[in-house]
Amino acid sequence: MDFSLTEEQKLLKEMVREFAEREIAPYVDNWEREHLFPREVFRKLGELGILGMTTEPAYGGTKSDYLSFILALEELSRFSASVALTVSVHSSLFIKAIQEYGREEQKKKYLPRAAKGEILGAFSLSEPGAGSDAANLLTKARKEGNVFVINGIKSWVTTGSEADALILFAVTSGEKEKKRISAFIVDRDSPGLQILKIEEKMGFNSSPTAQIAFEECRIPTENLLGEEGRGMAIALKLLDGSRIGIAAQAVGLAQTALELGIRYAKEREAFGQKIASFEAIQFMLADGATLVEAARLLTYRAASLVDHNLPYTKEAAMAKLFATEAANKIAYIALQIHGGYGYSREYPIERLYREARVTTIYEGTSEIQRLVIARQLIREAEGLIS
Ligand SMILES: Cc1cc2nc3c(=O)[nH]c(=O)nc-3n(C[C@H](O)[C@H](O)[C@H](O)COP(=O)(O)OP(=O)(O)OC[C@H]3O[C@@H](n4cnc5c(N)ncnc54)[C@H](O)[C@@H]3O)c2cc1C
Repeated sequence: MDFSLTEEQKLLKEMVREFAEREIAPYVDNWEREHLFPREVFRKLGELGILGMTTEPAYGGTKSDYLSFILALEELSRFSASVALTVSVHSSLFIKAIQEYGREEQKKKYLPRAAKGEILGAFSLSEPGAGSDAANLLTKARKEGNVFVINGIKSWVTTGSEADALILFAVTSGEKEKKRISAFIVDRDSPGLQILKIEEKMGFNSSPTAQIAFEECRIPTENLLGEEGRGMAIALKLLDGSRIGIAAQAVGLAQTALELGIRYAKEREAFGQKIASFEAIQFMLADGATLVEAARLLTYRAASLVDHNLPYTKEAAMAKLFATEAANKIAYIALQIHGGYGYSREYPIERLYREARVTTIYEGTSEIQRLVIARQLIREAEGLIS
């Protein structure tokens, strides 16, 4: 398989990198330290066409092949994993949900503004008692005439406090029903929706993660997304694709961590020589570089399967599993190379080390990725899929 990039993809990477060097790199440390959400950056990414890469041109988007979108996420993540996460959730969960499952009126209402960054979207599946086991969620949506009335608590909503609308998953029928969960589009200003708290996290401080309460929150029945009872299938399908974005985020972060390690090793002296001349340091760098390259290839391959309309559930899970675990190992190596300075907030590797940690958790933990991979392997062995 040939992974050489097309001229267009190279130009796209360059454009995103130049944007990030100008609009993100000088400010990212401050945003993270001060917990600032850089809303303006997303407007500019909208103007640049990056937020519209999963939206059809008929709805104001700049729809590209999936690999190009993944390349853009990787580049953004080299400068800010928080910005990359916001873009990933907005484009591959919020926009894609409406693009793929929305009715014409829903597409017209949300997509043009979302593609341009005039509105931002979130994805709300997890609850305090249901993360990996998302099908056990408790939030309920009861139909009353021409409205659904929502009650429950949602947790860990990326961009939740800043988003203008979110894709929400709630129970619409009895416990024994197989298809009991439905998807909805909920506007942030819906009466009865309240932001309960913003999580105090270990990192990703410029990506606010909200806990949201819905108390008799009334939304029009036309905000049902897709068929009633199909919510879980919609969520799982969307997560399959967006996991490749999280893998790309991990690759971008890992690449930067590795480069910081190399740079420091070339500058720092010990025992009268640059530490880069010690074989122990060289081996760490070699291992890190090999991991990041393998992670990148798995990620690009999963994206290229999407582009070729081939099954990608297993490959997306493999990319997410490998790339996020690799990002943690590389951040560890790079921090180790920095010695004591690596543990200081003065050096950016400390932030990357904290950021890498959550990538093996959100959008399905590493354990859940292994379950997804194993299930697919077994189904393949049974001849259910080819
Ligand atoms: C910063 C951040 C942002 C997030 N953003 C969003 C968002 O935008 N939208 C959203 O809906 N959610 C979001 N999440 C939630 C995230 O997807 C969940 O945290 C994740 O799915 C894990 O669920 P949990 O935290 O409930 O852990 P649990 O499900 O309680 O898991 C705890 C541990 O048990 C393991 N485990 C669970 N089940 C199994 C099993 N069957 N076999 C083996 N091990 C198992 C897990 O791997 C984990 O190690 C976010 C989380 C974080 C931290």
